[in-house]
Amino acid sequence: GAGETEDDVSGAVGVLRRVFGYDAFRGEQQSIIEHVITGGDAVVLMPTGGGKSLCYQIPALVRPGVGVVVSPLIALMQDQVDALRALGVRAGFLNSTQDLEERRLVEAEFLSGELDLLYLAPERLRVEQTLNLLDRGKISLFAIDEAHCVAQWGHDFRPDYLALSMLRERWPEVPRMALTATATEATHREITARLGMENARHFVASFDRPNIQYRIAGKSDPKKQLLELLRTEHAGDAGIVYCLSRASVEKTAEFLVQNGVTALPYHAGLDARMRAEHQARFLREDGVVVVATIAFGMGIDKPDVRFVAHLDLPKSVEGYYQETGRAGRDGQPSTAWLAYGLQDVVQQRKMIDGSDGDDAHRRRLSAHLDAMLALCETVECRRVRLLAYFGQESSACGNCDTCLTPPQTWDGTVPSQKLLSTVVRLQRERKQKFGAGQIVDILMGRKTAKVIQFDHDQLSVFGIGEDLREAEWRGVIRQLLAQRLLAVEGDYGTLVLTEASGEVLRGQREVPMRREPEKAVKAKAAKA
Ligand code: ADP
Ligand code: ZN
Repeated sequence: GAGETEDDVSGAVGVLRRVFGYDAFRGEQQSIIEHVITGGDAVVLMPTGGGKSLCYQIPALVRPGVGVVVSPLIALMQDQVDALRALGVRAGFLNSTQDLEERRLVEAEFLSGELDLLYLAPERLRVEQTLNLLDRGKISLFAIDEAHCVAQWGHDFRPDYLALSMLRERWPEVPRMALTATATEATHREITARLGMENARHFVASFDRPNIQYRIAGKSDPKKQLLELLRTEHAGDAGIVYCLSRASVEKTAEFLVQNGVTALPYHAGLDARMRAEHQARFLREDGVVVVATIAFGMGIDKPDVRFVAHLDLPKSVEGYYQETGRAGRDGQPSTAWLAYGLQDVVQQRKMIDGSDGDDAHRRRLSAHLDAMLALCETVECRRVRLLAYFGQESSACGNCDTCLTPPQTWDGTVPSQKLLSTVVRLQRERKQKFGAGQIVDILMGRKTAKVIQFDHDQLSVFGIGEDLREAEWRGVIRQLLAQRLLAVEGDYGTLVLTEASGEVLRGQREVPMRREPEKAVKAKAAKA
């Protein structure tokens, strides 16, 4: 600990005020901190920005010895340690970016009791040398940050995190904390089991971020839609724009710059210096927009991010929640905006089909995508859906797009039957594969070159869908895909029936649908 001596600053609240300069604890911070100070183990599920760091930093300062923090965020350790040192907290870190001399210095500080907090990359704890070092010092607690890494399949740090189960055997008397912002029931169970934390007390904070307005829009021209959002609601604001590919990151950043926005690209293909520079500008300057792949943002603490925009569909609800959670950490009104369209569904289903790994892995990816699609297609409050995903009940929020402008639903059964019948006809042409575009052209009775080439104007279904507009047909396809009444196959996005399609074709199943917003429908119609 820091060696409190003054009478007036005793205990956790004193440290909070004197060291960190805050007046009061937030949410469950105090009970967590008191539990750990008295030697208890804790599993802490708290959303991003909820204030997890203090939950281990303060017990580390109050308890005798050094608090050992396991974190995979190597790139941020220097910043975290610098920030703590600026507050007078004696912090250090050990990771692979250091040379031998730097490491020796930190080790010496640790051994002589000159540290309050020691940050470690998880792989350090698989090195016997590190374990021996820890044996020779006094440890006040272990904090395992980003503890969901233990549960995530295909996660880079997973083996290192699984190895952390040895902490209990090796240091049975040292309290352990597992902290994460991922709170699904399954992840929670796995963290508890894998880290051997059955006797820990569990602290589950509310995952609601009431100041974030959730909006999911139909995708027509995403870059233009984004610019419109920035101009009308977020001029001069700091924000993050997420794209799936490096190429679209580059193109989007360029487009924003051309339109007068201070936008910087960020993805793994840029060299480290440029990435560091862009991140630093985002943190220090006002009104910088970072356009990034998901590689950006983990652990970044910028309180005044006013919007997070997704130009592509996130792969899971967890990912969406984590990424949107980077908005509005200061509690001020902020926007989480996502553009979502048919192509997103087609592309992600293809990616899952083509992914490495076994069937179980693919099924898991599919389940994640399905949950994300359900959130996109819901006609209920987005927040209710989002929180329900994390196992938390709530009522309609009044601060999401579906609450503010309730979407209409309509009976899509007949159009679905028309569309599925067309797919059936085309599936008979075994050699040739057709995607959404050709099917819409046939339904709408368009004699395009490709329609004529394959005699599709001779099909009985040709022109049976003239009552709907193109955007509406694409909406039908998207929602059938989302409901698994239609599937995508192969590299060209060929549409095929699923087992459940038959129920719709035979009239045994109704297909309620979300009406395409007026605006998107009009925009498409004007172009046609
Ligand atoms: P998390 O790790 O859960 O994402 P952090 O620990 O980074 O969250 O905290 C988010 C922000 O909230 C930080 O800027 C932190 O200093 C601030 N914060 C945490 N606890 C309090 C508190 N009790 N009072 C005021 N600010 C706090
Ligand atoms: Zn709502």
